[in-house]
Amino acid sequence: MGFGTRRPTVTANVGGVLVGSAHPVVVQSMTNTDTADAASTVAQVAALARAGSQIVRVTVNNDEAAAAVPEIVRRLADDEGITVPIVGDFHYNGHLLLTRHPDCARALAKYRINPGNVGSKRRDENFRTIVQVAVDNGKPVRIGVNWGSLDQDLLTAMMDENARAGSPRDARDVYIEAMLESALRSAGLAEEVGLPHDRIIISAKVSQVQDLVDVYRRLGGRCDYPLHLGLTEAGLGTKGIVASTAGLSILLAEGIGDTIRVSLTPKPNGDRTEEVQVAQQILQSLGLRSFTPQVTSCPGCGRTTSTFFQHMAEDIQTYLREQMPIWRETHPGVVEMKVAVMGCVVNGPGESKHANIGISLPGTFEEPKAPVYVDGALMTTLKGETIVPEFLKILEDYVARTYPTAGSREAVGV
Ligand code: SF4
Repeated sequence: MGFGTRRPTVTANVGGVLVGSAHPVVVQSMTNTDTADAASTVAQVAALARAGSQIVRVTVNNDEAAAAVPEIVRRLADDEGITVPIVGDFHYNGHLLLTRHPDCARALAKYRINPGNVGSKRRDENFRTIVQVAVDNGKPVRIGVNWGSLDQDLLTAMMDENARAGSPRDARDVYIEAMLESALRSAGLAEEVGLPHDRIIISAKVSQVQDLVDVYRRLGGRCDYPLHLGLTEAGLGTKGIVASTAGLSILLAEGIGDTIRVSLTPKPNGDRTEEVQVAQQILQSLGLRSFTPQVTSCPGCGRTTSTFFQHMAEDIQTYLREQMPIWRETHPGVVEMKVAVMGCVVNGPGESKHANIGISLPGTFEEPKAPVYVDGALMTTLKGETIVPEFLKILEDYVARTYPTAGSREAVGV
């Protein structure tokens, strides 16, 4: 298989979003509001959806949260014009909540069940109850196994069996196999209850990159269910972003993974949509999907003594991101655009020529002028205080000319 060629899977329909096989890898996210607080949850879901999250998961942990779900879905549609599929995350009491709150069961687009957290004594019975609700409501289910809450009975049984074996495998290997066994056994049980094969998505999340790669490679080779990828508890800031990118990229390059989430720990009052931006950037960097025009900028060095070009690169990136909700509709294809913002003449003109549109700012001791290249050719040279607004105007004109609206595309015979 070539880079990123997807492994064949069945396709699951999650509230209208197709997950699996050749469908584009789906970006999803999860709220961190109290779901019972409908207003806050609606606001955050709306922000995540506007940032590009195609599916949003909310925790459904008690009666108040379950009761709020139908209102959240209704207010999103009526007040925000947003119909993003909402997934309910259930642990311990999902069988009770879904049966006590049929409106919640109907409003959700998918249920996430963690087989390690469906009760200790009546695990299979509780699991069956949730699946039966899914069957009755025509909903798909994600069977989401997690390293931190693995079915302990299953793990103990597999560890004991391994200890008795003639040549025991190492404990990590047994742990990974136990995760796979938990996921695939639960999927089999769900199908026994009557859930169609194509209404099951599987995830098996761990917090270490090497383990993640190992788990999903094995999982990908043993089933044709769509797989949801994510490094669980990825962590804060740079560590979380890099670890998620490392793990997900290896798997996505091998064609493993049909939907992804980047589980970042946000800063207090931080922007939850960062996890959506990172997920999109991973897919775009790998060339698997395009979400926003890309800015190529050099890191700067001793030739750039001012921070002007750093600010300019940031301003342009922000400008592009802010335009995207409109441009996505008005200028189809603009997501493929590449913009270069370079710090000096060393690599500036070369990189600018490779971009659709590029600017090379003057480095230290260089003449104070900034050549602008459009489609590989020098278009103009900017000078003075107005470089940024003038460049943005050139950029806007380029977008209008190169990515015309659907109506004007027909008019010019594109
Ligand atoms: S393009 Fe110029 S300013 Fe940027 S890193 Fe290279 S040498 Fe330094």
